[in-house]
Amino acid sequence: MSQTVTQTGIFHRSLNKNYGLASGGDGVYLLHPDGSRTLDGSSGAAVSCLRHGHRAVIDAIVQQAQSMAFAHTSFFSSDPAEKLASFLIKQSDNAFTKVMFLSSGSEAVESAIKLARQFFVAKGEPQRVNFLCRKYGYHGNTLGALSAGWNPQRRQTFEPLLSPAFHHVSPCFYSRDGGAGEPEEQYMSRLIEEYEELFQTLGTSSVAAILIETVGGATLGAVPPAKGYLQRLRSLCDKYGALLILDEVMCGMGRMGTVHAWQSYGNTIPDLQTIGKGLGAGYQPISAILVGAKVHKTLQASEPGLPFVSGHTYQGHSIGCAAALATQQTIMKDNLLANVMAMGDLLSAELRKQVPLLKEVRGRGLFQAVEFATLPHIKSLAGDVSRTSLANGLAIYLCSSAVDCVLFAPPFTIREREVYEMVDIFVRSTKQVIEQRGLK
Ligand code: PMP
Repeated sequence: MSQTVTQTGIFHRSLNKNYGLASGGDGVYLLHPDGSRTLDGSSGAAVSCLRHGHRAVIDAIVQQAQSMAFAHTSFFSSDPAEKLASFLIKQSDNAFTKVMFLSSGSEAVESAIKLARQFFVAKGEPQRVNFLCRKYGYHGNTLGALSAGWNPQRRQTFEPLLSPAFHHVSPCFYSRDGGAGEPEEQYMSRLIEEYEELFQTLGTSSVAAILIETVGGATLGAVPPAKGYLQRLRSLCDKYGALLILDEVMCGMGRMGTVHAWQSYGNTIPDLQTIGKGLGAGYQPISAILVGAKVHKTLQASEPGLPFVSGHTYQGHSIGCAAALATQQTIMKDNLLANVMAMGDLLSAELRKQVPLLKEVRGRGLFQAVEFATLPHIKSLAGDVSRTSLANGLAIYLCSSAVDCVLFAPPFTIREREVYEMVDIFVRSTKQVIEQRGLK
């Protein structure tokens, strides 16, 4: 285990806990001052999609810092921001026409909510104030994003948040919530019915958008949309004139083996999409909103009366954009999405084969969740397993207490032997917890 730091001045997540010090990175490992290392099995929180110390990204950052660190977007654009926007638009087969760069996933979601709201004000439908979201969704920690999400622990202290505008339907979780023998299609139709009822209750012309994660990540762990679900949501939005916003901050930018997660599930194009985390691979804090033509053209037509009434000092940061451009170019140049699929298949097969007390391995590409079986004599294992794994040299993302689940999301560059090592530490740690608790 890594060295711990105590009595420092930092206000970390918990004021009562000691944290190990990460002082270096080598490939898929984080290094500690005492010479130990931790395999980064979830890329932090699905962030570090390239290995540490990638030359092309470092060079891009240094070059940009040398030529110009910062130019405020009130006055100027920058070369890396322009290039990155063009790259992302082209890479998305022109599904989007504009890109707004921000610094975090929460900022991107917050701004997407505001963008949707302003779109309808500009369109002459200011009564569209409602957002339909999902229980157990996660969209970030700022007030709007937190209101759109559901994670009870994160919300509780700050209730009632911005509750009047945000409404939550059931998550789409067929493997858990599908009735015994219920066909996927029938399950999915039940869920669509919930949205339909909410549209009717709130008034169909009061809804601004449906806002969901394409693949549920942080809270429930790699929960894919049921077959046809995204397409039905698209139709519902079109029928009632609402926008479809997909949050791919965690599941997007290659993690599922396709650039966008929606490309893995029937190619449903959203009106707005948020991305972050893997966009800059953690080399720089950067996120973005991908904006479709409908929203962009309406807002453009309403200017100069009403430019987008939002703005953050560090939006479109040139060093962040340079790092993200180099990251995304590397992913394509090195054909890393093929590795995402190959290593993802290996990882899920090994987890299925080896993990004891397993309920389900679910996911796609390098976004794989392990859920433990819930048995009467077993109290949630995931928390203890993730803590024990960390002590044994593997960092793995713990989902919320709503499911007994951890999330694997290693770097796209991970190699076969590192997958085996990851599974080995995880299985060993799980067995250790089982033994300590006297479970069978
Ligand atoms: N949306 C989703 C789907 C996320 O998973 C997260 C972070 N886990 C966010 C938004 C918020 O991103 P950030 O922590 O960078 O603000």
